[in-house]
Amino acid sequence: MKYLSRLIRQSALILMAALLLVFSGLTYIGGDALLHRFVDGRLLGLAETLAKIVEQYPAIIESAEEGGALTAAIGENNKEPYQLQDATHSLRVFLPDGRLIWKAPNAAAQLSVPDHLLEQVRRGTPVFETSETTDGTPVRHVFISTPRQGQVRYVLQAETSLILYQETRTGLVILLTLGSGIILLVAWVGSGWLAKQVLTPIEVLSTGAETMSEADLGKRFTLDSPYQEFRRLTQAFNSVMDRFQRSGEIQRRFCDIAAHEMKTPLTILQGNLDVALMKARTSEEYREALLNNLEQVGRLIALTRSLLTLANFTSGKPPVHLVPLALEPLIQDLVDELTLLADDRRITLSFEAQSVPPVLGDAQWLKQALINLLDNALHYTPSGGAVTVRLQAVGEGVAVAVEDTGHGIEQEHLPHLFERFYRTDWARAKDAGGTGLGLPIVKEIAEAHSGSISVTSQVDKGSVFTLRLPTLSR
Ligand code: ADP
Repeated sequence: MKYLSRLIRQSALILMAALLLVFSGLTYIGGDALLHRFVDGRLLGLAETLAKIVEQYPAIIESAEEGGALTAAIGENNKEPYQLQDATHSLRVFLPDGRLIWKAPNAAAQLSVPDHLLEQVRRGTPVFETSETTDGTPVRHVFISTPRQGQVRYVLQAETSLILYQETRTGLVILLTLGSGIILLVAWVGSGWLAKQVLTPIEVLSTGAETMSEADLGKRFTLDSPYQEFRRLTQAFNSVMDRFQRSGEIQRRFCDIAAHEMKTPLTILQGNLDVALMKARTSEEYREALLNNLEQVGRLIALTRSLLTLANFTSGKPPVHLVPLALEPLIQDLVDELTLLADDRRITLSFEAQSVPPVLGDAQWLKQALINLLDNALHYTPSGGAVTVRLQAVGEGVAVAVEDTGHGIEQEHLPHLFERFYRTDWARAKDAGGTGLGLPIVKEIAEAHSGSISVTSQVDKGSVFTLRLPTLSR
């Protein structure tokens, strides 16, 4: 988790640094452009104010001795002189040929205007220029012309120091650098906090899962997180644990019962052999003991076969090979095969079939399911009774019902009949030969066909086991 935490922090920092770089660059470029516009705008405003004064009072310039008269005139008529006399600004007036004829008292001497500038100013466009004074102060100038009767009369120059502009720009850079530094620091600390918030619950869960042993299957995680997502993750984790625990318990119970079911025939076998070997026996007695043992071995083989079948069905992929299958001939063959056995037990076995569409099924396993149902029906129905197999279309599928007029099953047993090794007391008393695995196998086969098995029964009237299968078109 340390690696992931570092990765989150580094990614957040890199992303934030990149964003800040773009933001700071844009702010610097935009801020610089705005400052420039501000400086130039003020400078031009100043020059135009001077132009208006010169227009209104031409005599002042014409008769002025350098500087003083103009300043006095402005002082009388306008508030501008206070701005003009501001140390950061200065003004000059030139003749169209570039000779200086007037300058504000605070302006440094500049005897003429360079020719290339004069040329542009004469065309009537204001010309901006940045230069340095002799003491190295950066200054910005604007030159404009004052036309009189269509001719350029004077060239006016307004000048301002760029020191304030440079200080403001340096201030902006410091502000952006400091701000970025603080934001990066907050991002580093914040992403560390966020990574901790996100990774701690995962760390708790994964450490819990790593250190969990089988004895801890009953343990559940409690996570005190304010975030719903982590509470959900914990719940999901705990419900997986629930399922593990339940399936572990089912498996343990299954093994207990299987061992118990095997123990009975093995104990009988051992008892028979002990008794047979206790003293010399007649060949008739040995034969009887062997026959008894053979029956127990048959029971063990049936049990083992059923257990193997169930293991096959529960090992992930059921061993069925589904193909389009017509059920009527399959059931008819089965009924024909079992008629002899039914006759032997004096039970009437019949088959009633509607015409139904084919199903997707595995003939071998469907036959096995129907044998289990018919075997039970013939087994638990007394002589003189009847067993009927009905094939009919139901909804979007088909139903095969095995009906008998046997002993029936008490209601309380019905929900448990498809559990492994479940047998009613009555069946146990009637015959010790059953395994209690026939119906669970039917259930596995039905589910492997996306179908179902259900039962209805009435004591002393009989039972109906119905196997439902989807048809091909579904
Ligand atoms: P087994 O028949 O070997 O005991 P099954 O799983 O086939 O095992 O059946 C489980 C139990 O369901 C039987 O022991 C019996 O109690 C009951 N049962 C099944 N089929 C019938 C039936 N047709 N009539 C009455 N009881 C039945």
